Amino acid sequence: MSAPTSGRGCLTCGTPLRHTFVDLGMSPLCESYVSAEQLNQMERFYPLHTWVCEKCFLVQLEEFVSPEEIFTEYAYFSSYADSWVEHMRRYADAITDRLSLGKESFVVEVASNDGYLLQHFVKKGIPVLGIEPAANVAKVAVEKGVPTLVKFFGARTAEELARERRRADLICGANVLAQVPDPNDFVRGLKILLHPRGVVTIEFPHVMKLMAENQFDTIYHEHFSYFSFLSAETLFARSGLTLFDVEELPTHGGSLRVYARHAEDDSRPISERARALRQREVDAGLLRLETYAGFDEQVKETKRKLLEFLIGARRAGKRVVGYGAPGKGNTLLNYCGIRTDFVDFTVDRSPYKQGKFLPGTHIPILAPDRLREARPDYVLILPWNFKDEIIQQMADVRSWGGKFVVPIPAVRVLD
Ligand SMILES: [Zn+2]
Repeated sequence: MSAPTSGRGCLTCGTPLRHTFVDLGMSPLCESYVSAEQLNQMERFYPLHTWVCEKCFLVQLEEFVSPEEIFTEYAYFSSYADSWVEHMRRYADAITDRLSLGKESFVVEVASNDGYLLQHFVKKGIPVLGIEPAANVAKVAVEKGVPTLVKFFGARTAEELARERRRADLICGANVLAQVPDPNDFVRGLKILLHPRGVVTIEFPHVMKLMAENQFDTIYHEHFSYFSFLSAETLFARSGLTLFDVEELPTHGGSLRVYARHAEDDSRPISERARALRQREVDAGLLRLETYAGFDEQVKETKRKLLEFLIGARRAGKRVVGYGAPGKGNTLLNYCGIRTDFVDFTVDRSPYKQGKFLPGTHIPILAPDRLREARPDYVLILPWNFKDEIIQQMADVRSWGGKFVVPIPAVRVLD
């Protein structure tokens, strides 16, 4: 069989894509929760095939769905995850000190969601502006007192803002870089909007961690690209921005927060941390295609293991219920073909999701109390990155002998 070739060039450098990273088959959009009325209707599935670019080593989806289709009615309200809100509160405090932000400063967040981050700057009296394409989510932010522009961010939006207002001392974005269809245009926008002495911080899931910890379920249609420090550095440099510092964060299974400045701004030297991580990535082989080649088989083996566990549990007459309805859960369940034949239902704290069904698999999403009534033998934790928090919240599961199961990095029953 000859190796498949993508019909497209690399998202950021245009080189033809010839090397598969992982092929997860056909999957629906992971945030397109299904209502009861839609259950009997046709559902759209799209290929979930990722490639690695042989030139810039960006891991990326081949074909993406238009951002308008995905993000205009986005269901993810950041504020429903306590540890995420706390993570961003700590960030707001630290960056305010580090950059000496005050009432004269201007902070912009790209993909500001429901204002979960900017609210902390607002409390400090620091002028802010959120930019958020999903109108329903932006509305929640505005109600909280966080001024928010309903727009996609890119060079054009940045030019408008730079003309109308002032340039930003801090531009931040968490989990947005992976989701932009044109990363070059996005970074050009950062360059345009940034004050000559300003700083950009961008957080994204670290592809080195994704590979090391088998986090293939963080691949979904909403994430077009999967960056390393090296591939991000190449991208930012193309628009005249230099990555001068980096933090490794535990969020989303392992993320990077990169700090960028204008290439011309030599007031901020490149940190030892940035140099060290860069070298670690080189040593880990992230500039060699062979490093990426074995991932596909590792993912297939994880599917076999999870099905093995579920088949065994159901044969033994055990009841399995899910916890959470995150995007990553939908990738996992669709790829593995797990429906209500294995998992009776799942529960989620977000009222937006309760009463709906998971896309593709049509597993019902109920309120967490329903899990307590059902007293299942196993609780499959889909947002495994919040597992400690979930186990704490649902500690009573253990009172009836229930056990928690995490699917990633490997299928494990927790004692
Ligand atoms: Zn490339």
